[in-house]
Amino acid sequence: MTQKSIIVTGAASAGGLGFAAARLLAREGHAVTLTDLDGDNAADRAEELRAEGLTATGLAQDVTDEAGWAALVDRVKNETGRIDGLVNNAGIAVLKWTADLDVDSWDRQINVNLKSVYLGCRAVLPVMQAQGSGSIVNLSSIAGLVGVPGASAYAASKGGVRLYSKALALEVAKQGIRVNSVHPGVIWTDMQKVAIEDNPDQYDVINAAIPMGRMGEPDDIGNMIAFLISDRARYVTGGEFVVDGGLTA
Ligand code: NAD
Repeated sequence: MTQKSIIVTGAASAGGLGFAAARLLAREGHAVTLTDLDGDNAADRAEELRAEGLTATGLAQDVTDEAGWAALVDRVKNETGRIDGLVNNAGIAVLKWTADLDVDSWDRQINVNLKSVYLGCRAVLPVMQAQGSGSIVNLSSIAGLVGVPGASAYAASKGGVRLYSKALALEVAKQGIRVNSVHPGVIWTDMQKVAIEDNPDQYDVINAAIPMGRMGEPDDIGNMIAFLISDRARYVTGGEFVVDGGLTA
């Protein structure tokens, strides 16, 4: 298999979806650039992968920073010669009912979850267009498909990711660039641990509510991302891929 150069954002958390995807992609032989607001932890994750003999670099990045995207793309292009894949994974959730949701929390979720996806896609497109190929995977959520009370801004941002991905897929389909969104259900990561820390009994309640009887594991999502990045998905674009153990079936 030809080695690809792939950027994964929000990849610093050892138990997160970004690192799971980055590790699977690196183990498939690709060169992976892991970025995160927490640059030290991103560097540590990359070091872990290099210790396995894999090709990985960890860098600090704020995905809401337009100039930072330009610098990242330049750096990865210079170091690996290409950019074949972008996984827009970084995200935040502030779970509050609208009456309690302040404007700053609304803006932050829209910026980190949605605006960042546009900034990232726009930044890598010239490189992918010059290559005539590329695959972009944007992390949405089941909250981007169905209503989730108490997650209004998060849901708005993730619904935006879903339709932004489809619109962009149509814009670039003839250029050999594929764009898809992935919609995880409830996956056991730090984001989920924080969401239920005040109600630990929710752990069993949530597992029982999922048709397959358990929350997802990060690799359940990482495998879908790795597939969509790969050439095995060469005819797949503009799609929305639900990975939720049947929760929204
Ligand atoms: P996580 O909180 O474990 O990891 C998210 C990472 O994003 C963190 O390392 C954080 O530092 C980083 N990040 C936050 N703001 C950033 C910024 N401005 N710039 C760069 N990095 C930033 O989350 P996770 O559970 O691994 O979720 C990953 C993605 O999957 C998110 O987009 C999330 O919305 C989505 N998702 C998660 C679940 C779930 O159940 N865990 C469900 C549906 C969708």
